[in-house]
Amino acid sequence: MTNSFDIAIFEGDGIGPEITAPTVALLDRLAARSGAYALKFTSHPAGAAHYAKTGESLPKPSLYAAAKADAILLSAMGLPDIRYPDGTEISPQIDLRKAFQLFAGVRPVRVTEGGETPLKLPPGKEIDFVLIRESTEGLFHTQGRGEVTETEARETLLITRDICEKLFEFTFNLAADRKAQGRGPGRVTCVDKANVFRAFAFFRQLFDEEAAKHPDLKADHAYVDATALWMVQKPWEFDVMVTENMFGDILSDLGAGLMGGLGLAPSADIGLSQAVFQPCHGSAPDIAGKGLANPFAMVLSGAMMLDWLGLKHGVQTMCDDASALRDAVDAQVAARADVTPDLGGTARTAEATEAVAKRLGC
Ligand code: ATP
Repeated sequence: MTNSFDIAIFEGDGIGPEITAPTVALLDRLAARSGAYALKFTSHPAGAAHYAKTGESLPKPSLYAAAKADAILLSAMGLPDIRYPDGTEISPQIDLRKAFQLFAGVRPVRVTEGGETPLKLPPGKEIDFVLIRESTEGLFHTQGRGEVTETEARETLLITRDICEKLFEFTFNLAADRKAQGRGPGRVTCVDKANVFRAFAFFRQLFDEEAAKHPDLKADHAYVDATALWMVQKPWEFDVMVTENMFGDILSDLGAGLMGGLGLAPSADIGLSQAVFQPCHGSAPDIAGKGLANPFAMVLSGAMMLDWLGLKHGVQTMCDDASALRDAVDAQVAARADVTPDLGGTARTAEATEAVAKRLGC
């Protein structure tokens, strides 16, 4: 088949394997039903448990296989008790981000009518926005290399023209795709602190340069503190937001909170040629092996992967399947049926995924 894609799978640690298996099976059934594309999944070792066994957290063959794959689907890696000798956590997902220069951290926030949210949404209002977190520089530039003396500590924030140009081009293209799909009004908001820091004035200037190339899209700016307030007060007004690494780190957890928690929050880290799709949550070792893990963040990450591959390779059926998958999960959450205990249900991981497959008729 022409539209056949190699997907590198990282099952990871803790609940990772439990949510990976049913997600892969579901994606496989969806592809088989479509007849328009095929997914070939290959699993590769990496993570904290692998490090404990072998002394390697991301073996070279796994990294090479990931580089060659059409996309990477990763569950969660890291375990609190297994650390590098310097005490830092095992996080090969961050190594992949650096190795493939995955500058765009894409964090969709979606609450459809009746969906899980701690907010009281006014009648007829739904939340559907995407937060894009720059993921390679910003305040993470000196991560692990900050200077600390007896009297002071110093970290450096870096904003480069090179990364910003790629980031903003990606952001405006995503807003245009959403507009074309009828999912947003085509509005892009630059979230910064340009009133206080020169680096953010530079960030905003580069944003405006890209905005000028997209007269068909609306571009505006917001300070990060006001954005945190508005994400709680009127989140339905946002469409696509783009921000610096640390601001994005914080706002994306606020976004996960708006949609009823980590079990429903998918993400993607995207570069010019490669992309990693993974749930926002960690390996949840407290519930591992009990069948309690919510698979939906992983399933929704799989939907993002279908969308990305479909758009990149011009396979509309993949984008349609991504939409159908999102709708099926939304409907199941809204019905409060066949959901795991974190959403107030009694379904086990495999049952929740099977119910999604049933809704999709595959
Ligand atoms: P990390 O630092 O790797 O992000 P963490 O310790 O901050 O990890 P998680 O591993 O995401 O956090 O777990 C936080 C809490 O959320 C735990 O109580 C965990 O059981 C719960 N949790 C996380 N993911 C899920 C899931 N898919 N289903 C149900 N509960 C989950």
